[in-house]
Amino acid sequence: MQALVLEEKNRLSLRDFPVEETLGPRDVRIKLKTVGICGSDVHYYTHGAIGPFVVREPMILGHEASGVIEEVGSDVTELAVGDRVCMEPGIPEPASRAARLGLYNLDPAVRFWATPPIHGVLRPSVVHPADFTFKLPDNVSFAAGAMVEPLAVGVHGATKAQVKPGDVAIVIGAGPIGLVTVLAALAAGCARVIVSDVDDTKLAIAEKLGAVTAVNVARTPLVEAVKAETAGWGADIVFECSGNARAAAAVFEPLCPGGKVVFIGIPLEPIPYDVAGGQIKEVRVEHVFRYAHVYPRCVGMLASGAIDVSSLITRTFPFSASVEAFEYAATSPAGEVKIQIEMPD
Ligand SMILES: [Zn+2]
Repeated sequence: MQALVLEEKNRLSLRDFPVEETLGPRDVRIKLKTVGICGSDVHYYTHGAIGPFVVREPMILGHEASGVIEEVGSDVTELAVGDRVCMEPGIPEPASRAARLGLYNLDPAVRFWATPPIHGVLRPSVVHPADFTFKLPDNVSFAAGAMVEPLAVGVHGATKAQVKPGDVAIVIGAGPIGLVTVLAALAAGCARVIVSDVDDTKLAIAEKLGAVTAVNVARTPLVEAVKAETAGWGADIVFECSGNARAAAAVFEPLCPGGKVVFIGIPLEPIPYDVAGGQIKEVRVEHVFRYAHVYPRCVGMLASGAIDVSSLITRTFPFSASVEAFEYAATSPAGEVKIQIEMPD
């Protein structure tokens, strides 16, 4: 079966790549329909590694996916052939200590698509546990279904922040994860979200998502903009989505006393952290790693219209052009948020 294979750093090919998979009693076989390109996929392509995860042999990319069930295991009763679904790409050991504690995303043994040595899903079909496969209502498209994976990061962040109705939040960084965090913060009840970036095209997209104030920090200091928006008090929550060391080191400055910070963007290097700046405001700091228990919530909000991700899907390539899609994504083109690949019928 044809798959998009990362042969090694900077070398992709669309080629026959058989993957041996057996359908267990609690598994389903899914025909892939839409797969989003994630920053991590691009990073493996251009760098061959992310932190300790190194691509040592050819690996299929892709982990943001939706599809149609084409076969169900003997013990699966809640899903049926023909169901439209999206899939959670990280599978823990079901009986691990982390999983039993409800922290399955932190299970050291988690197997996550397109994270070496686990193959991703830019291929015709995949076998996946039914427990990590979620039905899409008819009014949620395959494209939106493939956005549930990044959206889940924002929803997990908003959940960790314990957003209260009327909160003012800051989202630092208007990339795909920043923008889904904006959507999650607004859906969770924020009265206003102040989004900072240095790219006006990304900020323009952020402004269209709802009650958003866009701040280009190349021109306006974030603290000044936040003071103006909050009568000098500061924001209730900062979602740090840039991973940028300087931005991340200054997270406490625009925050109100008793505020909260959620670190979502992953800095590539260790960063300095202003402990005293957090102490004088008694800031509560949270960190998120991927997500847990939020897929049904994301699907529910897409179905009800509480969250609309359509404006974030800025380009779609056919699977036959997926190498070109990655080459294009690797140039970080201005104005693009989420690039997706549509699988053939
Ligand atoms: Zn992703």
